[in-house]
Amino acid sequence: MGAIAKGVRRPESKLGPSLELYGHVDLLLARGRGELDVVAQVERVPGYRIEGDVERMAHAALIAELAERVCEDRHPVDGVYDLAVMAMEELARESDPRRASAWFLLSALDLLGYAPQLMSCASCEKPLAAKPAAFSAEAGGFLCDQCALPAMDEVPLATIKVLRLMASGDLATYRRLKLDDNLMASLEGVLHTQLEYHLDRRLKSLAFLNTMRT
Ligand SMILES: [Zn+2]
Repeated sequence: MGAIAKGVRRPESKLGPSLELYGHVDLLLARGRGELDVVAQVERVPGYRIEGDVERMAHAALIAELAERVCEDRHPVDGVYDLAVMAMEELARESDPRRASAWFLLSALDLLGYAPQLMSCASCEKPLAAKPAAFSAEAGGFLCDQCALPAMDEVPLATIKVLRLMASGDLATYRRLKLDDNLMASLEGVLHTQLEYHLDRRLKSLAFLNTMRT
């Protein structure tokens, strides 16, 4: 929900120091005259702090934008808040922000009911062979050789395996995986395609992250 914090830029503001971007805070809100409430008190929740480079901030923006996009004002969706906080914590502790961001995206897709099908063909339900496979967001996952079209790019088996590990929720093992640039790009390719297929508008933060790469 939207709220105004009045006078936060003034040096003597009591609210300003606690209201940093992407922070985890406890707020006391007063009802405003318009649609926006007014921040009366704010306290930082102990824990993570997102700071540093542009890339980390850009991933934090993605987490925040997606969480905001899937919830309407004053209508929380179960689990979105907890997942966003958990993802920010992971982003703050992880040396590679892309890794934390990818974990968040798969968890968010799962929470929203858009998790890609990873074990069996998204079209004919046949179990997938242990080999590279084409991905179709429209079909909802990976396709077997019979269902894939010849023009479709294949996603490496290593990527599919990492996605399966992520889907199993085993964060401890995921943290220890070596993910080189190619594997990371391939993971993001699948996750971003799936996400954008299900959102009616593109995410600004995702477009920004993609321009950083090129
Ligand atoms: Zn099939």
